[in-house]
Amino acid sequence: MIDLRSDTVTRPTEGMREAMATADVGDDVYAEDPTVRSLEEKVADLFGFQAALFTVTGSLANLLAVRSLVQPGAEVLCESGAHIARAELGAHAAISGLTMRTWSDARGRADLGAIESLIAPDLGPFLVRTTCVSIENTHNFAGGRVQPLETLTALRELADRHGIDVHLDGARIWNASVATGASLAQLAACADTMAVCLSKGLGAPIGSLMLAGTDAISEARVERKRLGGGWRQAGLLAAAGHYALDHHIARLADDHEHARLIAEAAGCPPEGVETNIVVIETADAAGLVERCRQGGVLVGAVGPRVVRAVTHLDISREDAVKAAAVIAAALHP
Ligand SMILES: *Cc1c(COP(=O)(O)O)cnc(C)c1O
Repeated sequence: MIDLRSDTVTRPTEGMREAMATADVGDDVYAEDPTVRSLEEKVADLFGFQAALFTVTGSLANLLAVRSLVQPGAEVLCESGAHIARAELGAHAAISGLTMRTWSDARGRADLGAIESLIAPDLGPFLVRTTCVSIENTHNFAGGRVQPLETLTALRELADRHGIDVHLDGARIWNASVATGASLAQLAACADTMAVCLSKGLGAPIGSLMLAGTDAISEARVERKRLGGGWRQAGLLAAAGHYALDHHIARLADDHEHARLIAEAAGCPPEGVETNIVVIETADAAGLVERCRQGGVLVGAVGPRVVRAVTHLDISREDAVKAAAVIAAALHP
């Protein structure tokens, strides 16, 4: 089976397993795991943040980060297809007690006009107070779309003007960097807090990080433990993260090339595929998924009329060519 359901399905490579097996470890709840600590320092430096916290999932990194910026009863603004709004099972409401309002943009972009009109200042006992705007780069449900750098700069200015914070869900920020040539630090410069995933295109089995200032990270370390997310010899996993950062960033360009190849065969508009996600519109998503499966290709339905194919580390060019043919045939049964 050629599995294009998600870039989370990758399995650790031999080199990565070797790095994991030989990792130097300690108890991370005591902050004594050297491999975790060096990973946190490395990732904080890469993005120009003071500090980072290694977490089991991107959802937990997002939860801890947004919670550090938005008090219970206040609100975060985000795009209506944002992962924090749609795919984190209401954690931000259920656990952090905050509310969300959204703008909609087909490309998942930060719509500055819409954001500005949504921002509610502190009006005492009248309106929910906006304290944060959250954006996603690349935007998952919009099809791996990249936020333009000038929009990010303008968003930072807008947030400063209104005295609110910016959270950046950068689960696939690596893809945005490789696709645009912008550095990770440039892409992160707009954000007060950030979440990044090692478990997507970078191919680590588990692991994400929250990035923020030193104080917010110290507090998040306590909150992580409170939520049951303290872990012990997590250096085994951090070692996979180190390996992924050292070996698997530049090669994301191959995933992007493979996605374009699949999009072309599926007749998708080429400008819609900016990174490693192909969104295929079809009258019957479930039918398309089933016909692809019969052809040996796994894709995922993300709506009744939308199918998603995601390229990743375990998909060779040959796999992509084969999958493209299977998807094209399944679209025209
Ligand atoms: C995958 C993803 C996350 C985190 O997902 P987990 O499965 O919790 O690691 C967060 N944001 C976006 C945009 C994602 O695609």
